[in-house]
Amino acid sequence: MLGGVDLGGTKIQVVIVDEQFTVLGEHRAPTPTTGRPAGVAEAIADAVREAAHAADTDPATLEGIGVGSPGEVDGGVVTGARNLPGWEGAFGLADALLDELGPPVSIGNDVNVATNAEASLGAGRPYSSMLGVFWGTGVGGGIVLDGKPWVGRGAAAEIGHVVVKVGGAKCPCGRHGCMEAYAGRGAMEHHARVLQRKGEHTDLFEIMEKRGRDRLTSGIWARALVRQDRMAVRIVDRAIEALGAGIASAVNLLDVEAVILGGGLGVRLGDPYRRRIEDAMLPHVFADERPPPLLLAELGDHGGAIGAALLAGDPQPVKG
Ligand SMILES: [Zn+2]
Repeated sequence: MLGGVDLGGTKIQVVIVDEQFTVLGEHRAPTPTTGRPAGVAEAIADAVREAAHAADTDPATLEGIGVGSPGEVDGGVVTGARNLPGWEGAFGLADALLDELGPPVSIGNDVNVATNAEASLGAGRPYSSMLGVFWGTGVGGGIVLDGKPWVGRGAAAEIGHVVVKVGGAKCPCGRHGCMEAYAGRGAMEHHARVLQRKGEHTDLFEIMEKRGRDRLTSGIWARALVRQDRMAVRIVDRAIEALGAGIASAVNLLDVEAVILGGGLGVRLGDPYRRRIEDAMLPHVFADERPPPLLLAELGDHGGAIGAALLAGDPQPVKG
């Protein structure tokens, strides 16, 4: 059995899988919002214990544990994990988890491990080349070419920072006009707050308060869309336009066989929005007589954690 951990800005998702990567047990916990990286490592260790318990096993008996982490991953060290508390510098996450739990720990970049999971076990199985697009707080990407992950010099596939409008909206990365500045859930929330301060009406924040949240989760956006909240509809329309242009630009460059759409918003909004993004893509695709299909991620919410387990079971892991 292997353990897989998807370490995100809002949640820690853990799965325990067998050699076929069937999920035997799982646990989800909120990511600590305060404290140091050591506190996050403790929260991960607790979540792994809970998931192991759910799978009727003990963490010490696992053959390996994989972690998909944001930030820059070098061996077992994670640096500059934005969205995680106090994690600007470097932290030896693999060693910390090894001390807590026992089995060997492998760490990879979160988006790369999720792409690898879809390529090996999910919607990407029939293809030797694909682009993964993870539509969540930010917009992450992963590239597989000739059956192998393409990471460039370590920073490839940053599709969220493809420019869709020169001199456009400010992106959380500090630059302007990136796709993420329009389509990232963080940027979408920022935009909604600005419009609300200017006096525009929306139910988004009312739904947020009713659900006891302090940020606009994918579920809150989905609810507002069902209610046809005008601001939510407008901001999501803008996001879809940006995703269409950005994904089509990447397709024009790479000519992959398929594009896989995942991430919190991608999974939550599902097929109707997948279709709309595909429609927004097509006018920008150069080889428009045979555009690649845009497919929903099959592993859904578990993709990141299953990909991390793959990493733990593979001596040639996807490198972050
Ligand atoms: Zn950017």
